[in-house]
Amino acid sequence: MNTIRYNWTKEEIIQLYNKPLMDLLFEAASVHRQFHNPNVVQVSTLLSIKTGGCPEDCGYCPQAARYHTNIEGNDLMTVSQVKAQALRAKASGSSRVCMGAAWRNVKDGPEFDQVLEMVRTINKLDMEVCCTLGMITENQAKRLAEAGLYAYNHNLDSSEEYYKEVISTRGYEDRLETIENVRKTNVTVCSGGIIGMGEQIEDRAGMLVALASLNPQPESVPINALVAVEGTPLENEKPVEIWDMIRMVATTRIVMPETQVRLSAGRTQMSREGQAMCFFAGANSIFAGDKLLTTPNPDVNEDMKMFELLGLEPQKPFIKKMQPETVEAENSQYQPLGEKPKWTRPGHVIERNLEASQKGK
Ligand code: SF4
Repeated sequence: MNTIRYNWTKEEIIQLYNKPLMDLLFEAASVHRQFHNPNVVQVSTLLSIKTGGCPEDCGYCPQAARYHTNIEGNDLMTVSQVKAQALRAKASGSSRVCMGAAWRNVKDGPEFDQVLEMVRTINKLDMEVCCTLGMITENQAKRLAEAGLYAYNHNLDSSEEYYKEVISTRGYEDRLETIENVRKTNVTVCSGGIIGMGEQIEDRAGMLVALASLNPQPESVPINALVAVEGTPLENEKPVEIWDMIRMVATTRIVMPETQVRLSAGRTQMSREGQAMCFFAGANSIFAGDKLLTTPNPDVNEDMKMFELLGLEPQKPFIKKMQPETVEAENSQYQPLGEKPKWTRPGHVIERNLEASQKGK
């Protein structure tokens, strides 16, 4: 009988990752069946409510203003636009809506108030609401919780060591602090990372150590395969091999048995057989819809055909945790504090990020 461990070492995780594949799959699938129904997969819809123009320098991201990509930026969506999209997502089988804004951190003010209203609106549609808005303070996390937020996403991206090779505009500890702020509320945590950024297996293991040692462990862990976008510093990275994805999913499943492991970016490059192996290895969540923020994603009908083929069912909302109550804005017990948090900046330079910023200028 497996129990949850918070003290995984990097060496143990590397050993798991490198096991003969059939042994790794068997172990992961056994853990999966102990904690989850293997025929149920959560379907979430990701909405980019504010695209592009981000001041950060994440090396993988086409939304960073400094890189020259073909992303069309847009202002914050209206509440009614978001509601219409959420209803469409619900009709096609999604139980969760994740709203992403290309912000460095949340700023109190009319735009954040609008996001809070979006959270209230979607929660009232009886769907799980998740937000990914960058770094947030404790007060902002509490305001989101009060509006009815179910989950907050903030990825660790990679190991602490490799993070320094990808992002220079904030530190790993800033990421952890936001996660800590979310944990001061009843909002669940979604945090994972990206493989295929040029990191070593040690870095993949290092990220899993960081996530698995959080107590409680994140309720959701997205595993993304880098989608190398032209114009970003990582544009020339080779596509992730399906075997790496399967090994990463299986290892994540074993070290975080209760979490929902999410197959995220990069699914368009995966065959149905590859995805089926990931589900067998313990992935039990996907993003639906033809776009993942700005990168392509399989069509929702294709996904439903795959579900039918594999005998999978979409997960109903609020299975893992009760639906939060929504407090209306006028009854809120929190005031906007207008905090301007002093986030730590490592102040170091990443050559390839600089080069990508200078290209085309
Ligand atoms: S990943 Fe997020 S924080 Fe980083 S550049 Fe893209 S939008 Fe900004």
